[in-house]
Amino acid sequence: MSTLHSFKTFSDSLPSEDQVMPLLFIGHGSPMNGIEDNEFSMRWRKMGEEIKRPTAVIVISAHWLTRGTHITAMPNPKTIHDFGGFPPALYQVQYPAPGDPALAAETKQLIQSTTIGLDHDWGLDHGTWTVVRHMYPEADIPVLQLSIDYNKPAQYHYDLAKELAALRKKGVLIIGSGNMVHNLRMIDWSKTDKPDFGYDWAIEMNKKFKDSILKTDHTSLIRYSDFGQAANYAIPTPDHYYPLLYILGLQAKEEKITFFNDKAVMGSITMTSVQIG
Ligand code: ZN
Repeated sequence: MSTLHSFKTFSDSLPSEDQVMPLLFIGHGSPMNGIEDNEFSMRWRKMGEEIKRPTAVIVISAHWLTRGTHITAMPNPKTIHDFGGFPPALYQVQYPAPGDPALAAETKQLIQSTTIGLDHDWGLDHGTWTVVRHMYPEADIPVLQLSIDYNKPAQYHYDLAKELAALRKKGVLIIGSGNMVHNLRMIDWSKTDKPDFGYDWAIEMNKKFKDSILKTDHTSLIRYSDFGQAANYAIPTPDHYYPLLYILGLQAKEEKITFFNDKAVMGSITMTSVQIG
């Protein structure tokens, strides 16, 4: 018994899987999810309860596209209402989570392949706050954003992500916020009340994306245009897809893969999300 006991004490002192934070790619969909209690936002809320409380959250949002890569470094990021034509209630939302200037500086140090800019102008755009306010409604965990250098190709984003890996062991939750299938021009507005409707090509791509993620076939996901015509419809521009590549780039060997909110909405958008680890 004593040997077993000392082994247990020994193994308790090793860094366990639990101490590495999971990774999330979240399909954020309509900004209205930020104020609605629907099946998607309720799942985000549950996620916040299930996952070990992070020391900070870093979001790669589809809605912060820049030249060069930047990280928010202000102590109090503002809530950005970066959309048009929505009800006043959505513009009134404030998500007053603090920033973390020290973590921003540390992240800048971690990334060697490029010079990260410390940003004092951006804040939390709707790709971030519509999701994170459900996960952490108290707004008491620091939230930062890392921008997407929109001049760079898919491979750049996948590779850059790997340099963030050490943050996972420090309790930082890294979230990619976009949509795997995202074609605004082809939205079927008559289907807004039908919670599960996708065009054939959207369903086809949703399956292909999930299959490739499950097989850890990241090469195919980086070279997504090789999937053919359905991929051209699913990713007319890569802004909402690149956040997924950050999460895949950070994936370690043999990590558990779990999908959630696996649905198409309004024909041309999927809410399909994935937890890794
Ligand atoms: Zn969006």
